[in-house]
Amino acid sequence: MISDTIITVRKRVASTCNRMGRDPSIVSLVAVSKGRTVQEIIEALDAGITDIAENKVQEASLKYEELRAAGYASRFKFHMVGHLQTNKVKEAVRMFDLIQSVDSLHLAEEINARAAKIHKVQDILVEIKLSSEATKYGLQPKEAIKAVEAISLLPNVRIRGLMAIAPILDDPLQAKPYFRKLPELLNEINAAAVSPEPLTVLSMGMSDDFEPALEEGSNMIRIGRAVFESRG
Ligand SMILES: *Cc1c(COP(=O)(O)O)cnc(C)c1O
Repeated sequence: MISDTIITVRKRVASTCNRMGRDPSIVSLVAVSKGRTVQEIIEALDAGITDIAENKVQEASLKYEELRAAGYASRFKFHMVGHLQTNKVKEAVRMFDLIQSVDSLHLAEEINARAAKIHKVQDILVEIKLSSEATKYGLQPKEAIKAVEAISLLPNVRIRGLMAIAPILDDPLQAKPYFRKLPELLNEINAAAVSPEPLTVLSMGMSDDFEPALEEGSNMIRIGRAVFESRG
């Protein structure tokens, strides 16, 4: 049952945090519901999940309408974690509380323009590419400071932090050196004071690697399989 898998994930978060002397309550658990049914999402929400993520705008839209019809729209924050195409930005800005996958200034500008039209300030994360194998998308760490500086000038976008996906490795512990780069970069950006408010969110860690991510300072984990699939 989804309520059981959530308890298991929360226990693992708590035990890793306790071991590290970190407060587990600052870790946001985002349930990634791509490929799952609205019924499964409702089960997760009824079991206390407060944050849901999708990776495709169209799938997200369909589910969002159903969730709204079922009276659930105000019960969760909606995250976008997949690559966002410019022609989907209008719909994304209408729907998502946090767009985690902003990987170019151009995309941020488009989000800013669409958000301005509906008088919204859109919260975003800047996606960083931690290694060339890891993902197709994301800014190179060395481009990040300049990008954050430029994006910060856009009035209808607010950067909350950074997001990254680690490369897939045989042993998730090997992801630690990759994860370590993200808080280092966040500190560098904050030290350079290129954004009006310091960035605080570090979104890293998925079902297979959220423990090493938490050890390296993650405060937002994006969990799909470990929430929606029970190992039996
Ligand atoms: C699918 C997905 C996740 C969750 O992956 P699991 O391995 O199922 O936990 C997290 N982040 C992003 C960007 C994803 O696309």
